[in-house]
Amino acid sequence: MLKLTNIVKEYPAGGDKVAALRGVSVEFRKNEFVAILGPSGCGKTTLLNIIGGLDQYTDGDLSINGVSTKKYKDSDWDAYRNHSIGFVFQSYNLIPHQSVLNNVELALTISGVSKKERRARAVEALKKVGLGDQLKKRPNQMSGGQMQRVAIARALVNDPEILLADEPTGALDSETSVQVMDLLKEIAHDRLVIMVTHNPELAEQYATRTVRLLDGKIIDDTAPYTAEEISAVEQPKKKKKTRKPSMSFFTALSLSLKNLLTKKGRTVLTSFAGSIGIIGIALIYAVSQGMTAYIDAVQEDTLSSYPLTIEATNVDLTTLMETFMGMASDTGDDHDKNAVYSQSVMFEMINAMNNLETTENDLVSFKEFIDKELKAEDGASKLKESLSGVQYTYNLNLLVYTKNVDGNIIYSDTQELLSKAMAENFGMEISPMMGMGNSSSPMSSMTSLSPAASSMKLWTEILSGKDGSLISPVVKNQYEIIDGGSWPTAANEIVLVVDKNNELDDLTLYALGLESEETINALFDAVLEGKELEIQQKSWSYEELREMEFRVILNSDCYTLDPKTGTYTDLRQTEAGLRYLYDNALTLKVTGIVRPREEASSAMLTGS
Ligand code: ADP
Ligand code: MG
Repeated sequence: MLKLTNIVKEYPAGGDKVAALRGVSVEFRKNEFVAILGPSGCGKTTLLNIIGGLDQYTDGDLSINGVSTKKYKDSDWDAYRNHSIGFVFQSYNLIPHQSVLNNVELALTISGVSKKERRARAVEALKKVGLGDQLKKRPNQMSGGQMQRVAIARALVNDPEILLADEPTGALDSETSVQVMDLLKEIAHDRLVIMVTHNPELAEQYATRTVRLLDGKIIDDTAPYTAEEISAVEQPKKKKKTRKPSMSFFTALSLSLKNLLTKKGRTVLTSFAGSIGIIGIALIYAVSQGMTAYIDAVQEDTLSSYPLTIEATNVDLTTLMETFMGMASDTGDDHDKNAVYSQSVMFEMINAMNNLETTENDLVSFKEFIDKELKAEDGASKLKESLSGVQYTYNLNLLVYTKNVDGNIIYSDTQELLSKAMAENFGMEISPMMGMGNSSSPMSSMTSLSPAASSMKLWTEILSGKDGSLISPVVKNQYEIIDGGSWPTAANEIVLVVDKNNELDDLTLYALGLESEETINALFDAVLEGKELEIQQKSWSYEELREMEFRVILNSDCYTLDPKTGTYTDLRQTEAGLRYLYDNALTLKVTGIVRPREEASSAMLTGS
């Protein structure tokens, strides 16, 4: 399965070259326990690193399952290291402050395995090395032999075909060495184990084959892989991907569409949009390494547009990402190009969507934790130092009403108005899927996150400062007051947010009550009939805008009990009822008009 042909490895050494390996040729069986013996500096570690793809050979060839690695791309090496190889080092390389279970689990994190399966596999691997009852311990509470067994469990958790161990007993006394060797021997029953050691007794006692190395060359091999053996072994069959659809295609399709419309689906979409922001940050990091000051600025900007969001329900997107990436990088290697082949994209996608894992976050405790950290003395909390601000969002729609230019009381909400206008003018019900009718629909949670569609959302809460101040300095850095007014200082005060050119879009103007229904209707009519429409630019003075008045009606106030029927009626359904609610509602006052600063590269307020 592994064949090295004339491998040479040279290291540059002060203008000169040092040859660590000078033409090593050796072939390994699918399962055997190979010990590599030799004095210090003879090239053992170098050989192991080359076999494991951690280091590149200078000359010669390494072929894996009959395929030369000469043309391997980085992604091929990544796949080989991640899926075929497990490493065990002399110094264990465990993360000291993480539990044994976490240490093993972490090795699986990148492989797109669900949380539940990750845990199960980590527990299984730890049981296999005899540590099933020590899952919660930390490495520094364990003996050397135990730590090395954890490291072996970690190497095994991905179920690699090859286990490489570099002096795994180098730091252990002879008694614990025996335990580790017994374990490696057992592992070698169904995979290839290659172990570097300086201890000939251990090699002789446990390994099925010993290869001796001296000065970068093999000087002895107790059980070379013979030509007869090689031809006797059946050529490895090409691995076929097995995909077993567990339900009919249409069942899956309709199920996943339903899934999209549920709360889980919504969370998926918001999490997805959120991750795009995070990925953006990662990209910026990758591209502009070294430009620290610039990064700091961009990071603040990015985080203010895409703040870190922690939701009640958490969706593990790794499987989904893995699926997308897998599809993109699938090279179609397992068939010739002599016909046209199918690719199961839909199935993979839907399958991944259906199998998304959701977990519930304990937000009550988390909020307690954050509140406590924010109250800490200066310098006592790292979290407090790192945060610009914290905002809590509750799943509650604010009912804000205003009187428009026609004197009618309107619900001041762009999404709602747009859906009503569309329904009236185009004669169609806007389904929640289109994201306008229902603010809890999946699409609207997308639009509310996408900066391009920010005008879809009218009302936003301004981020408060972490020291208890009402407005975070981040907001004040990004926006300036343009009308001589002030930032809000009380709960019933608001600011109007205009764009860099002092403009507001027509839909927002309508929702603010500044444009009449007639104007908007005329717009829709013109579009519908394909007419030319001359649009006149209008303007409002700062004073006019400061006089706008909005009223907040509490959701619970909308309903009154009808004693005759014993049922509740929604007062907003009648004009008199709405007027009554409006007259008794909390009044919001505009204290100022703000605009993104000229030099601000990001503006965090998504509403108007
Ligand atoms: P072993 O594991 O058998 O003790 P190594 O494979 O670590 O030996 O090293 C073999 C030779 O290659 C040594 O002479 C060592 O100094 C040299 N070598 C190893 N790694 C490097 C490196 N990164 N740069 C330069 N020389 C190296
Ligand atoms: Mg070494």
